[in-house]
Amino acid sequence: MTVNPSGWRPSTPTNERDETHTVTGNRALMLEEPLIFEIGNTEQTGVDFAEVPQRATRLGGLERNREIGLPGLSEPETVRHYTRLSRQNYAIDLGLFPLGSCTMKHNPRLNEKVARMPGFADLHPLQPQETVQGALQVINELAFWLLALTGMDSVAMSPKAGAHGELCGLLCIRAALEARGDKREVVLVPESAHGTNPATAAFAGYRVENIPANAAGRVDLEALKARLGPDVAAVMITNPNTCGLFEPDMKAISDSVHAAGAFVYCDGANFNAIVGKVRPGDLGIDAMHINLHKTFSTPHGGGGPGSGPVVLSQALAPFGPLPFVAKYADGTYKIVEEENAAEEHPNAFGRMVAFHGQMGMFTRALAYILSHGADGLKQVAEDSVLNANYILRRLADVLDAPFAASGPCMHEAIFSDKGFADDVNTLDLAKALIDEGFHPMTMYFPLVVHGAMLVEPTETESKASLDQFIEAVRSIARRAKAGDPSLKAAPIYAPRRRLDETLAARNPVLVYREPPTAQAAE
Ligand SMILES: *Cc1c(COP(=O)(O)O)cnc(C)c1O
Repeated sequence: MTVNPSGWRPSTPTNERDETHTVTGNRALMLEEPLIFEIGNTEQTGVDFAEVPQRATRLGGLERNREIGLPGLSEPETVRHYTRLSRQNYAIDLGLFPLGSCTMKHNPRLNEKVARMPGFADLHPLQPQETVQGALQVINELAFWLLALTGMDSVAMSPKAGAHGELCGLLCIRAALEARGDKREVVLVPESAHGTNPATAAFAGYRVENIPANAAGRVDLEALKARLGPDVAAVMITNPNTCGLFEPDMKAISDSVHAAGAFVYCDGANFNAIVGKVRPGDLGIDAMHINLHKTFSTPHGGGGPGSGPVVLSQALAPFGPLPFVAKYADGTYKIVEEENAAEEHPNAFGRMVAFHGQMGMFTRALAYILSHGADGLKQVAEDSVLNANYILRRLADVLDAPFAASGPCMHEAIFSDKGFADDVNTLDLAKALIDEGFHPMTMYFPLVVHGAMLVEPTETESKASLDQFIEAVRSIARRAKAGDPSLKAAPIYAPRRRLDETLAARNPVLVYREPPTAQAAE
């Protein structure tokens, strides 16, 4: 295969009267950038490789027998290509990222400085343990603070994301049930749960059953109690839930779940709303993952990295996974692995990862916790809740806020599309937000709210930035109610206009296909 060295092509106007058309496709400093397949070619490279000496291959017939066909660019072209692409990416360092349920907050540069210290950044996971005592101490101290903040008994540090932590927690629950010879098959998940909860339960081999939400957006306690029985292994509850609401009946829920012989899994991804205020251990929770990459600021988005330690109750602690870091009386740290687990941790359900977890996220999270201190973390919860309530109240006269009447929200505010003109929907509002320079909020989630718009400002946004966002949403909401037809065309200022998202989701084209050339078409 050869890749067509097509180089640059002049852009074509989308219609004759397109006043924003330019020959280059660029719009002032908004630079257009084609795919590398369109501008690169197989004859070009930014590096010089020596001729490969001929020698007998040991690949047993599996060696490549034709050109790899990857397009190349010179070094300056490569730098520009990726820098231009990076400028088309919206990031928390550029502006407000109001995605509900994602906790996109500012990542303090102090964390980055600490994580880049060579003593942390240059470690190898197979290094002898006596040479990495400082790193093990960081893992151990972070574990200590996570336990202090949650009031739980032990913590599995190794899971690498929230969903991974959910799986870890459910595997602990399964191991605890099996240890008492109890084969339970059902996990109950309220409607207000995050989507990963039912997915995790199904992945762990459980049958998932829904528990309805009540009119106030909370778990229907009576419906839950009515369903509990000897087949229920666990209940998975997100608290604060995905409507941005605290479950005030949490202790009563835990008590009835325990009375029925089951365990309480709490999705703690929204811990930033309650950190320093409520300890999940006091609410009777048995397992909860903490998204370090949300609550404790370590960066995420774009696919990683994440870190999802799971705190465990006394009942589940013996079943937590290997490996973990233990501190010994002489002040040294050791990683407890399969070889030395027999006497120290014989009931581990197994392991989640090859090594010890996300070291870079541990250092960032510990830097965040220590730099905030106990009072600072409490203020994180207060400010994230204050910011969300500010948005809720400043928008409640232009957007329907289904739970606003039942009191303040927690860290995120939820709105519905009720009151929009017939042919205008949530997607149109979100697209118009792009024209105003904002990443859209979470849309159509949670499912319990029609045309949901879920906004999480986090504690790191200033009042000025919230006010700007609020004014943008207010103006678009008015247009949505009035049925402004131009909303259907939004975004009009973005490098790409409205895309056929249904087609893209149903029929994704994941490899580059050369467009037919004029000749071939003849
Ligand atoms: C983000 C989130 C998850 C999943 O966490 P990942 O790290 O993305 O796997 C689970 N539950 C809730 C409530 C979340 O916000």
